[in-house]
Amino acid sequence: MKKPLLATEFLDRARENFGEHEAVLTVEGDRLTYDELGDRVDRLSAALQDHGIEKGDRVAVLDPNTHYHLETAYAAIQIGAVHTPLNYRLKPGENEYIINDAGIDAIVCDYDFVDNVDPVREAVDVETYICTDPEQADTDEEWADYESVIDGYDTGEYERPEMAEDEIVTINYTSGTTGDPKGVMRTHRTETIHAYLTAQQNSIASDDVYYWTLPMFHVNGWGHIFAITGVGARHICARGFDPERTFEKITEEDVSYMCCAPTVMNMLIEHWEEHDPQTTGDNDLRIASGGAAPPEATMRTLEDKIGWYFKHMYGSTETGPLIVTSDYNRLFDQDDDSRFEIKNRQGFAMLGTEIDVVDEDGNSVPQDDETIGEIVVRGNQIMEGYWNKPEETEEAFSARREGWFHTGDLATLNEDGMLKIKDRKKDIIVSGGENISSLQLEDCLYNHPAVREVAIIPVPSEEWGETPKAYIIPKNGDPENPGVTAEEITAYTKEHLADYKAVRVVEFVDQLPKTSTGKIQKYELRQTEWDGHDQMVGEG
Ligand code: AMP
Repeated sequence: MKKPLLATEFLDRARENFGEHEAVLTVEGDRLTYDELGDRVDRLSAALQDHGIEKGDRVAVLDPNTHYHLETAYAAIQIGAVHTPLNYRLKPGENEYIINDAGIDAIVCDYDFVDNVDPVREAVDVETYICTDPEQADTDEEWADYESVIDGYDTGEYERPEMAEDEIVTINYTSGTTGDPKGVMRTHRTETIHAYLTAQQNSIASDDVYYWTLPMFHVNGWGHIFAITGVGARHICARGFDPERTFEKITEEDVSYMCCAPTVMNMLIEHWEEHDPQTTGDNDLRIASGGAAPPEATMRTLEDKIGWYFKHMYGSTETGPLIVTSDYNRLFDQDDDSRFEIKNRQGFAMLGTEIDVVDEDGNSVPQDDETIGEIVVRGNQIMEGYWNKPEETEEAFSARREGWFHTGDLATLNEDGMLKIKDRKKDIIVSGGENISSLQLEDCLYNHPAVREVAIIPVPSEEWGETPKAYIIPKNGDPENPGVTAEEITAYTKEHLADYKAVRVVEFVDQLPKTSTGKIQKYELRQTEWDGHDQMVGEG
């Protein structure tokens, strides 16, 4: 028997079986059951259809982790539209690119973020603008009020079209290695398989209490929009991330499970060290890390001092993201210090997933933990391709080994087949778990009147794992008196791009290392910066 794998399954199942149970604690403190959540989703679906949204149209949501994001995702999906979350930290110009690239037809926007969209209204072709609370929004533009919009409709009023598992259900934008962000297309099938895997690998069950520390826009909150809902567990929503509030909610709501990048874990640790808050409610707590390599000290503190259980996950937007983990409890003794050697490695493939580490010719590297190659992967959770980018898609699935997705991450394998990431082939910086495109930063700085030539590379950072550094040849050629200060360079990048992408370190130079064809040899610059480290990627 073959039943189509549809992402609508998750909310349908929760409504069917857990309808009267709490689904969401909203930021405002309201408790919605799955019946109530489903009812609001249905009414938004009807409203979107009435605004002309049809199957295949793209619906964007720009929101800092509230129940409105969950509702919009499901409302779009169940009318066959494509859920397209936007990163709420992006500047208007960055949103303009994505909105036009994706061809967004409707936007549901949090009241605090309308000015990330308003300035580019003339430059985009969006028909429907809905705001979660226009009265609180600082705007002169027309935004329909979310609650009034859904109040106009009843539960049974929308029509669910026929859907097939290979149709696109979501597009997630990721920082491109070519400068512009790339839309990662995911189908009902890839989302569903990924959510099953997430639930299995992170032992998610109906009595789990999930606290949202991970942005929902980041690969659909790593699939937890689907997995938590599908198993009938509880979502605790929060606007953005705040360590104090996180500890409060953990104890008040008996949180059992969270996910975040190591940088966010370090912020929790810092708060705990300073304020000694209670660390659990009635439930034990497990915390899954992804997006960057976790420092060993972070894992130790979380497990040995704070008393949470640590899980290490690896993947990328293109891969679902979850493909690899070292969280295989029978391979280590949770009471023994030696477990951190395993937990620190990215690990091996999850169920239904195959990974390999390959050389330039696509051959497997030996499992000697020394030979470095690129991680390639095959699995049903891997993306369909990049939106409107057939060449990049072709390259991603064939560069070294045909039919495998090429992650751009460089790693070794030990004799047990466990991955350890050592370096990165792609030209990105992973800072605090978010990707930053070096090329986008370089493009930005080439517009600065005092910059003649610039190379951006990742350099180690205690706080963020990695941070962008700019090597700049000034227009006047004089690195001693470049005519601009490092602070002005940082401010310039902040003015044009999201704050988290800002260049934090600047060095003025009179030349850059180049190949005979004139290409800047960033590898040489990186080697200098990472001298003394045993890998050229950050931890944190
Ligand atoms: P993104 O597409 O934004 O999720 O970023 C994916 C990239 O983050 C990967 O290709 C890696 O370079 C990095 N990354 C994710 N998880 C880990 C991890 N556990 N260890 C090291 N790097 C990671």
